[in-house]
Amino acid sequence: MLHQVRNSSRDFSDEWSISHNKFLELLDYLHTSNYKTITFADIALNKNILNSSGKKVILTFDDGYKHLFDFAIPELVKRKMKAVFYIPTAHLADYNSWDSEKNYEKLEIMNESDLRKLDNLGMEVGSHSHHHIRLKENKNAHEVEEELLLSKQTIELITQKPVYSVAFPFASVPKGYKKLLYNAGFFFGLSIYQPFESRYALRRLGYYSSDTKNSLKLKLSFAYKFLRALHDPFLKY
Ligand SMILES: [Zn+2]
Repeated sequence: MLHQVRNSSRDFSDEWSISHNKFLELLDYLHTSNYKTITFADIALNKNILNSSGKKVILTFDDGYKHLFDFAIPELVKRKMKAVFYIPTAHLADYNSWDSEKNYEKLEIMNESDLRKLDNLGMEVGSHSHHHIRLKENKNAHEVEEELLLSKQTIELITQKPVYSVAFPFASVPKGYKKLLYNAGFFFGLSIYQPFESRYALRRLGYYSSDTKNSLKLKLSFAYKFLRALHDPFLKY
């Protein structure tokens, strides 16, 4: 799981931002360790892909930051790597105003033509809800459903491709999410820490400034997957 990839004058105390070099370290590690980057669309369209030989990884970028086109996306393209980009559709061509509750730096969000560019580059475009809200805290089931459906339909109108996956903003997994996603036509839902994992609430591994080759190796190991299955149910949500 990634968010921002940029060199800024601020120090990188922001856990959602990594530098260009840190991003290259990730790509180099995946390349030298023979990982193939795939997408959720690849799995939805070809279930055998998971049984095929070779190591696979899915890179995800939340929030659809425009600056990813300056460095991260060209670097992926150069290496013929794919990634999935999760877009909060109400904020297209706007700013990350949902961050205004914290010490926030205004950052531009991609526009419609950017989503078409992503699609043309072989990247997957997924939903990050419509307004980037905490879906779990919204007790209005109809509104939650609308947040998911509207974002899916908006992206599908723009790219003319089905949307297969959603990343829940703030990893806030709504009540009844399995039924909600199934009914809305999603194949996969992504959380971060998740007590019980299923295709509709997958655990994700964050890649941060503090990560090293060794921590990456651990995070991508079977042992870590096992540790998370033991660890996540005991976190407070
Ligand atoms: Zn987000």
